[in-house]
Amino acid sequence: MVQSSLTRAEATTRAEQIRVASYDVTVDLSGAEDPQQKTFGSQVTVRFTAEDGAETFIDFIHDSISLVELNGDELDVDDVVEGSRIRLPELEGANELTVVGRALYSRSGEGLHRYVDPQDGNVYIYTQYEPADCRRVFPVFEQPDLKASFTVTLITPPEWVAASNGEHLTTEPAGTSDVPGAVSHEFAPTERISTYITTILAGPYTRVTDVWQGVDVQGETQSVPLALYCRRALAEHLDSEELFAVTKQGLDFFTELFAFDYPFGKYEQAFVPEYNLGAMENPGLVTLTEDYLFPSGATRTQLAGRANTMLHEMCHMWFGDLVTMTWWDDLWLKESFAEFMGAYASVRATEYGDAWVAFALGRKEWAYRQDQLPTTHPIVADIVDLEAARQNFDGITYAKGASVLKQLVAFVGEEAFIDACRAYFRRFAYGNTSLDDFLTVLKEACEADVRSWANDWLLTTGVPHLDLAVERDDSGAIAAATLTQTSDAPRPHVVAVATYAPGASGNSDSTEDTGQLVLQRSTEVRVDPQQPATDLPELLGDTSPVILANDRDLTYCLASPGADGLAALADGVHLLADPLARALAHSQVWAAVRDARYDPRAYVHLVAHRGVGEQHSSILTTVLDRAQEALESFVPPRLRPPLRTEFLDCLHTAVTGAHAGSDAQLVLMRAFARGAARDASHATTVEKLLSGEQHLPGLELGSQLTWALWSAQTATSHATRPQLERAHAADPSREGRLGYLRALAAIPAEEAKAEAWQAITSGSLSNDELSATMSGFQLATPDLLGTYHGAYFESITPWWGEHSMEIATRMIRGLYPRALDAQAASSAQENPTVVASQSWLDENTTAPGALRRIMTELLDDARRAVKLQAAVLSHLNQ
Ligand SMILES: [Zn+2]
Repeated sequence: MVQSSLTRAEATTRAEQIRVASYDVTVDLSGAEDPQQKTFGSQVTVRFTAEDGAETFIDFIHDSISLVELNGDELDVDDVVEGSRIRLPELEGANELTVVGRALYSRSGEGLHRYVDPQDGNVYIYTQYEPADCRRVFPVFEQPDLKASFTVTLITPPEWVAASNGEHLTTEPAGTSDVPGAVSHEFAPTERISTYITTILAGPYTRVTDVWQGVDVQGETQSVPLALYCRRALAEHLDSEELFAVTKQGLDFFTELFAFDYPFGKYEQAFVPEYNLGAMENPGLVTLTEDYLFPSGATRTQLAGRANTMLHEMCHMWFGDLVTMTWWDDLWLKESFAEFMGAYASVRATEYGDAWVAFALGRKEWAYRQDQLPTTHPIVADIVDLEAARQNFDGITYAKGASVLKQLVAFVGEEAFIDACRAYFRRFAYGNTSLDDFLTVLKEACEADVRSWANDWLLTTGVPHLDLAVERDDSGAIAAATLTQTSDAPRPHVVAVATYAPGASGNSDSTEDTGQLVLQRSTEVRVDPQQPATDLPELLGDTSPVILANDRDLTYCLASPGADGLAALADGVHLLADPLARALAHSQVWAAVRDARYDPRAYVHLVAHRGVGEQHSSILTTVLDRAQEALESFVPPRLRPPLRTEFLDCLHTAVTGAHAGSDAQLVLMRAFARGAARDASHATTVEKLLSGEQHLPGLELGSQLTWALWSAQTATSHATRPQLERAHAADPSREGRLGYLRALAAIPAEEAKAEAWQAITSGSLSNDELSATMSGFQLATPDLLGTYHGAYFESITPWWGEHSMEIATRMIRGLYPRALDAQAASSAQENPTVVASQSWLDENTTAPGALRRIMTELLDDARRAVKLQAAVLSHLNQ
């Protein structure tokens, strides 16, 4: 079927033509337990008004359509159904449309996903629609500004739990279903909401309930029913006490902050398998990836990350669900706010008071990276169609947007910002907005020039660079210090620069010298875009060894400390007492690695010998990941083997010495297992860990780590297929199945790679099975993968046409031939992957924009890697 995208122009026209009142939706899942049953029944009746005589269309990606009835007239299906659109001719003032058909169960996580639990055979259903996959489930005017009230009926096997956005009203025998015993669940009509946030959940889910009692805007008591859902096999890992605690803290916080009662009746959260993203803000029924339940153990960072996501989704109940962007250009109007509020609320309302540390080190890095790609875009984007919308759930829309909002709060003041939010909800509740609407309320709440702020930050692209230049006299005291902005589009910043020295803090009573670096002086300056350089007079005379630009992470910039400053920063980073300062210093050293100002080998050494002692689990997790990225991408291939062994040795020593049961122990062991897949020097240790002969007190391997170790043994030729099969038989869980698929694909033999390639390209794998198999496939030396290089570049366009966007995107990113770097000559002009990627782009100028964007980004990453490798080699040759 031709699946038409929807253009912004078409959406604008349709929104001018019609206004939708309501949908009555019936989805028949009565045959869902039979995997041979590929389709489900779908019926909808829509009521909407239109200009008399107008013609428009409704969207439905279907398997079959048996009836289209408009205002009592049955239309000829062959005449009006055009691919995924149903033409609606000769509309009247008030219209009633009924469509009956069947649609396909999904295994890609898009639309109505069906999951069969390998452990107990149970079948679970959930939906995921953003930006436009509601049309895969029932006929719908699929655009965010055509809001309506939805009344849902779900027909399911008996004994199933069912949920939707509205309150569950009744369960009765289903009169119409062919399946004996099927039952019909009725749900209360929703408020007026957008199509992409409607949702359905069904299956033998475990359900746990609670109630939140709070105070409404009138000061009266209000209560909101709460529920959690997960697969039965995970029930023992559903830590409902912690989950409800964060939920209640969030509801207390946001209802007070926004001065607007929670608008959607109940608040339920479902943890679902094979989910494509972290979570989705369906009003009344948020879906989250079940990776947020932790059968294999969790660090505090993982718990903090989950709380952050839960609060992010909760913020969307107001920013996004109550008030929604008119079109995807303004996706930032919900995502940047929710991203900001995830951290803000974590700090204010929960025990995770250090949320800005993870934000500075992890989320902002995502933004900086994305903003340096040739495909970057302004935060307020130009989104011509749905395919483009789908590619824009990226580091700019989320993390850069949130960083910029953080600055806005500093710029206009927190009180004005909150006042503007409150006015925004009061004025636009249940409606749609764009940038101008938000600027209008903001303007009313403060004196600042918010339009020029928006022009500087929301409508421009690229990362501003702030270069710190410091001169010292013979005694080491700072004799001159300036900050220079070197961007194409200079912007105003409020930025702090601070000095750190060993021993007691300059303003503390403590005089004990701990060897740690503590704050000495901090100066906060305004950087004027018109001025080339800003002096930092308050730092003159200071003798501290470490100077940190963008201290406290006040602005969005890449701060470069200069060569001497960088060396001091790298030297001292592990000694900085304050975790946020440490995160920022790490972030600046990493930026220097990516910018060829700091040798990637030195970075690996830094992490291997000092970073492994990090106690903040979020910082530790991130720096270990980066060291492994530097090692496998930026260090020239022929220099990698000894460095891998050295790094693995350090990880082994660190994990053996880590406190029993500590986060560090778990994080280090995960990194050790990853590293062991590329270096066999610790194969005996791995074998002993797997057999139980060696055991680290306090560390349960769990399914995840066990399979990471099996993959390592397999990739280094230390495990056989029968061993993997026995291990799989002993662990039938979801994690076990994915681990097994990954390990199988990691077998370093031609037949195993061919088998994996066949499975990957066959279209028979679900989204998660696909990713696990690709990840194992890529664990190989270049000689084994060389034959797939040509096939990859020839298949890109067919894959894009044959698979759903999620699956095609995963394939194109997941199979990109990175390993060929190993055969590469020392320049981008000679690297086969770079050359082939560039040729593909040159030859496919008319390929879909979303596909070209992916290839352009992959090429840019490959070019950067080759460039950094070449820099190391030229250094060697000097
Ligand atoms: Zn979001």
